[in-house]
Amino acid sequence: MFALWILSGLGITAGYHRMFSHRAWWAAKPVRVALLIFGAAAWQNSVIAWSAGHRYHHRDVDTDDDPYTITRGFWYAHMLWVIIKGNRHDDFDNVPDLWKDPLCAWQHKHYNAISIAFNLGVPLLLGVLTGNILGMLLWAGLLRIVFVHHATFFINSLAHMWGSRPWTQEHSARDNAVLAFFTFGEGYHNFHHTFPGDYRNGVRWWQFDPTKWLIWTLDRVGLATNLKRSSFDRRLRRRWSHLHERYQEQRVHWEEQLQAQFDEACARFESALDEARALHRDLSRRAEELHTEAARELRLARREAERRVLAEFREFKRMLNESSQLAPTIA
Ligand SMILES: [Zn+2]
Ligand SMILES: [Zn+2]
Repeated sequence: MFALWILSGLGITAGYHRMFSHRAWWAAKPVRVALLIFGAAAWQNSVIAWSAGHRYHHRDVDTDDDPYTITRGFWYAHMLWVIIKGNRHDDFDNVPDLWKDPLCAWQHKHYNAISIAFNLGVPLLLGVLTGNILGMLLWAGLLRIVFVHHATFFINSLAHMWGSRPWTQEHSARDNAVLAFFTFGEGYHNFHHTFPGDYRNGVRWWQFDPTKWLIWTLDRVGLATNLKRSSFDRRLRRRWSHLHERYQEQRVHWEEQLQAQFDEACARFESALDEARALHRDLSRRAEELHTEAARELRLARREAERRVLAEFREFKRMLNESSQLAPTIA
């Protein structure tokens, strides 16, 4: 199962995708035939149908004309596009080069036969050899197809949602090392959408891209030709302009943040000032009230004191009168 998984996976990545859809490399006839058969074994349609859809995906990425557009959500990009067919599901006009290629035309014409023959024949043969026909049909046939399908589907769905965008933010494609691990290197999707003509998806030597290593090895042994690489200069310029755009975005973000913090501080200062003014008004009013009250009490106290002094004075006068009336009597 493992070997068949690798073969049909590479049939899609090295064959359908990088060679026939993007023409990022070319190979000797036996290699092309093998890749077309292994690609058919992945049960993802003929190379002509697959490449037509994929070329529209690149040309119209993130629009309604993208056959597996991520703008309609994860599940649509992942697998619903197979069922709910988009605008261009049977439009194969964008692959005239493949129609003209006798091998591709042959594979398109006999796709079902090749696919069934491989997916039933090889597991059956392995089953007879190992004595476990049902297990082989299930593992090397069905489960392997499901596994390769979801790996490809994840490139259309997760690789447009999850990961980094080190090359450009102009499209939704992401670089994701985890996805690259399960998809023979196809996870470096931000690079791939930015430089689709490059036979590598993981452009750096250390990035996990077995498809790139296979193509490179085939080239070394003389079975591959015309390996296309994006120039260092173009990559450097792309990276520089991307970093510059990110810096500008970051700067605008910082400026907005600073402005927001400044506005907030101003608002806090204004409200503190309003509170201080209100407190000052309260204190003034209270002082006024206290002053009025004190003045009233003072007035009352003064009146009371006057009243007492007058009363004392009258008493004193009355006592004086009494004593002056008593004086002759004593004399
Ligand atoms: Zn894509
Ligand atoms: Zn592509």
